[in-house]
Amino acid sequence: MLKSLNFTASITDSQEAAYRIMLTRSQLSSDLSLLALLDAEVVTRWIAERRHIITYPVTNHTIYNISTNQPVVNFASAPSETYTTKEPEIVMLEVFEDFCPTVLKLLNLIPEEEVCEWKLRIHEPLSTWINGSVALVGDACHTSLSHMSQGGARSVEDGSVLGVVLANLPDASPDAINKALRVYEKIRKQRAEMLVELAAASARNLHLGEGKAKEERDRIFREFREKGGKAPVPDKWADAEVQKMVYGIDCVKLHESNSRICIILCAPND
Ligand SMILES: Cc1cc2nc3c(=O)[nH]c(=O)nc-3n(C[C@H](O)[C@H](O)[C@H](O)COP(=O)(O)OP(=O)(O)OC[C@H]3O[C@@H](n4cnc5c(N)ncnc54)[C@H](O)[C@@H]3O)c2cc1C
Repeated sequence: MLKSLNFTASITDSQEAAYRIMLTRSQLSSDLSLLALLDAEVVTRWIAERRHIITYPVTNHTIYNISTNQPVVNFASAPSETYTTKEPEIVMLEVFEDFCPTVLKLLNLIPEEEVCEWKLRIHEPLSTWINGSVALVGDACHTSLSHMSQGGARSVEDGSVLGVVLANLPDASPDAINKALRVYEKIRKQRAEMLVELAAASARNLHLGEGKAKEERDRIFREFREKGGKAPVPDKWADAEVQKMVYGIDCVKLHESNSRICIILCAPND
């Protein structure tokens, strides 16, 4: 689609990669403190310069999900570069060897087979998501660094909005479809791209090295703790206001009213 519009997608290497690991309840069962993590309704993030680990229970507390972020060191360079590679577990342990004992206990439980590592790339916003009767959705138009855990959610929101705008079509002509898709793009593009940037900005802040910016970030973390969580937090994934904005909207309801307004505004020839 971009080719036919003569647009180029700009992609840069973030110089970051991620390990994704899932440990089962039986793998954690030898350690009561790790079982307590699996049973808690808690997301834990450990941060350091250019690295972090985020963990949380999934699948009704039967699986502990572990996701990491670290500088890219293990990937082959172009032209043989790929999005994923396999590392022996020992390589991953070396990356996080200075992390706290809980992290090391978790990582040591990972079987000694190879661990999958994902390369993270930055996709700049596209100038458009639509061409005639064709629309891009999901990762195809707003793929993101993983720091807000929102890629899948955003894709579902796209689908629901598409459903609403297409349900409002006066007829099934290419012109009417194009208008509906333009409404979809108008409703979705800004929110999706704002969340992509928020994920990137949050990680930049979490990955700071020594210096004034890190001191200020840590002061805000301290204030957040002292106020019992009722203050902004540098980890945007955990920020109450950001969570309200991300999870607190009924996107179908909101978009139903928006799309009616937009369709009226866009008709008949705009
Ligand atoms: C390891 C990992 C962990 C993630 N964790 C989270 C998370 O915790 N929360 C979250 O919200 N998001 C998460 N995401 C992001 C999320 O998975 C994606 O944002 C989401 O899957 C995007 O959905 P999509 O439908 O746009 O694309 P995809 O899920 O990639 O679906 C595209 C589909 O199109 C198919 N396809 C491709 N080319 C063709 C072709 N030519 N013909 C036919 N079919 C084709 C592909 O096989 C695929 O099935 C994670 C992603 C990864 C990689």
